[in-house]
Amino acid sequence: MSSTSPNNSLGREIQTVGVIGAGTMGNGIAQACAVSGIQVVMIDISEAAVQKGLATISGSLDRLLKKDKISAEAKASALAHIRISTDYADLKEAQLVIEAATENEALKVKILQQLDAMLAPDVIVATNTSSISITKLAATTQRADRFIGMHFFNPVPMMALVELIRGLQTSDATHAKVKTLAETLGKTPITVKNAPGFVVNRILIPMINEAFFVLAEGLATPEDIDAGMKLGCNQPIGPLALADMIGLDVCLAVMDVYMKEFNDSKYRPAPLLKEYVAAGWLGRKSGRGVYSY
Ligand code: NAD
Repeated sequence: MSSTSPNNSLGREIQTVGVIGAGTMGNGIAQACAVSGIQVVMIDISEAAVQKGLATISGSLDRLLKKDKISAEAKASALAHIRISTDYADLKEAQLVIEAATENEALKVKILQQLDAMLAPDVIVATNTSSISITKLAATTQRADRFIGMHFFNPVPMMALVELIRGLQTSDATHAKVKTLAETLGKTPITVKNAPGFVVNRILIPMINEAFFVLAEGLATPEDIDAGMKLGCNQPIGPLALADMIGLDVCLAVMDVYMKEFNDSKYRPAPLLKEYVAAGWLGRKSGRGVYSY
């Protein structure tokens, strides 16, 4: 028996994309698809949630219009490409469904089972998860070879990168099809094997963690640490200011995952990072992190 689907089982062009979740990432993904002329069905659990997602897209398109990045016709056309719904049955026309619901493994497994029950066998399912194993999620579906990670970056309409994460089971045909879609969206895909943090967060979050060690050792002020990394490494923002944007609790949770998954002390969370999180100094969202806001 072949371990991958034959190419012709994934022959249908991707004309309609289903997006599960109308939150930060879901509405951004829906916008990116619609602007590229792809029909979108965006699903969430309540009418209020899908309406909010659609309003966010409309506001984002308005800002692009004001900056002359798109025309009024392009805005109208993009909005006309988006259908909102709370009914998974409306995903029936989709050739690809991108799951961008809340980051919770049990919830995602439940959604994937719902999708398995109603999607045609040739439909590809992608997940935007930041931290859950693609191989493990694939194993809970009946389409493990047609399952892949599609990790977009926030804000989706502005960020060029998409990490395509191949689970152990992902077929070459699935990867090729999703890569073509990412390029159609004007994104630059990179292909990554499944592992905690994929590539970007695997490098980024330990760098931020190291910045907390450097700060704790009193080697330099926060301002000088950030200026050093900005001016010395051409980074647009320093690691400590970035930690405040991401949320110190999120950075700590990611380090905890690496520590557990790799069982390697090089991923030890910085005690100062833990201390700030314990104090409720979570960054911009709490008004205080490394810096005050
Ligand atoms: P969010 O909280 O903004 O949105 C999640 C949405 O999913 C909510 O609107 C919620 O109502 C909806 N939802 C919950 N259960 C659902 C269900 N059963 N069916 C349909 N919709 C459901 O979260 P987010 O930041 O958009 O994150 C979504 C996913 O993207 C997560 O897996 C996250 O790890 C990943 N991600 C987030 C970022 C980021 O910067 N926010 C970046 C990359 C990846």
